[in-house]
Amino acid sequence: MPTEIPVIPTDARLIYHDHPPDYRDVLRKEMEKRKIPVSIGKTCPVKCTFCYEIDHSYRDTLEPGKTTQEDWNYILDYISKKPTRANENWVWGGNEYMEWTDLFLHPKAMEWLEDFLKYTDKSVTIFTVGYVHVPRIHQLAVQYPNRINFELSVITLHKDYRKALMPHAPSISHLMKVLEGPGVTSANFYSFDHHTMSVDAQTISRLNPHVILWMGCLTPLKGMDEQTVRLCRQGKKTLPEEALRIYEAALPNPTTIHTEPYITAFLNRHKIMTLFDTLELEKKDTVVMGKSVYRVLSMYRKNRAHFLPVPNATLGGDSDCTILLTFDDILRRLNGEKVVHIPKCIMESPRGNDCDISGVTLEEFKEKAKCKVKILGKVNTKVADKKLWEHGYLSSYVRDYIANPAAKEFEAIPVPT
Ligand code: SF4
Repeated sequence: MPTEIPVIPTDARLIYHDHPPDYRDVLRKEMEKRKIPVSIGKTCPVKCTFCYEIDHSYRDTLEPGKTTQEDWNYILDYISKKPTRANENWVWGGNEYMEWTDLFLHPKAMEWLEDFLKYTDKSVTIFTVGYVHVPRIHQLAVQYPNRINFELSVITLHKDYRKALMPHAPSISHLMKVLEGPGVTSANFYSFDHHTMSVDAQTISRLNPHVILWMGCLTPLKGMDEQTVRLCRQGKKTLPEEALRIYEAALPNPTTIHTEPYITAFLNRHKIMTLFDTLELEKKDTVVMGKSVYRVLSMYRKNRAHFLPVPNATLGGDSDCTILLTFDDILRRLNGEKVVHIPKCIMESPRGNDCDISGVTLEEFKEKAKCKVKILGKVNTKVADKKLWEHGYLSSYVRDYIANPAAKEFEAIPVPT
């Protein structure tokens, strides 16, 4: 039997605006970045309290308005003319110039997803908290094998925490129906307390032993309310015990732990060291980096250069990621340095033009920095992304992080502020 798409509570209903004059330009810019710019308008009505789109103060987002059938015809025609590249997935939704939203709230989303699969030969990655139609999503997965990479944001199946964090999300019973068919590729959910992530892992595995379990904890960012921040931090504390429970349960699903840079940096410490060595820096050279990379290099390459840990002040909260540093973050941290070495990944925002995630360009930074700026070309997004994936398995986290005394030492290294 088909599942009804849950009715969204009144205060989460959509408000549609007229199209601004240059909205097709926004659509084209997103499509050039391999995004399928279906839109429900700015600001997601689901209002999850942990949403990384809560604070937009650091970047301009444009408003293409609600996608019409005419817009969709234009989008589909534009995408069809683009070459199909092997292993390339188009992302369902623009998120570079537009705001990230749950696009399956658009009444035509399922129909247009089907159009995309039918009229192009391209693959698609979709993200949603679950507003897909069942059984249609499962039928599409069977009809177009290996074309849909469906990442379902479960977040948590714990009744109380789900209510607190995502009061307008689909019901647990609907989510179960989404999970138990072939449509979903991976399900992401997190630790918030004892017996949260571990219980969810077992529930999801029982429903679907093939779906990739993507786990970890959520990072509090600027703009989140106190309760959400508290829950995220509580989840970080219980992550090791939760991970162990899942490891011991030996579930048949592929199991990954990602999301937190401190884990990624430690598990990839040997590669970070090797990369650092190839840079051939000298003791006096000042090198910019996020806090976790600072800890790795302070442990294993002490005094080989002047390491400058830069907090992610723009994103705020507990964020700690070199790729997501902004030039403004670096400017706040500079203190009379004559030369500064900057990882290239900071200026590789998908917007292009050598700009950071907030849109500030290298040239603009150089004007303000009043020091010589050298770019470390080898520390680029391609390398960073690859590393992020390589050791992201639950088994690596359990064996080489939880069980490794060096990880405790790594966590204890003080980061100067
Ligand atoms: S559904 Fe996604 S985009 Fe919408 S509020 Fe929740 S996390 Fe944010």
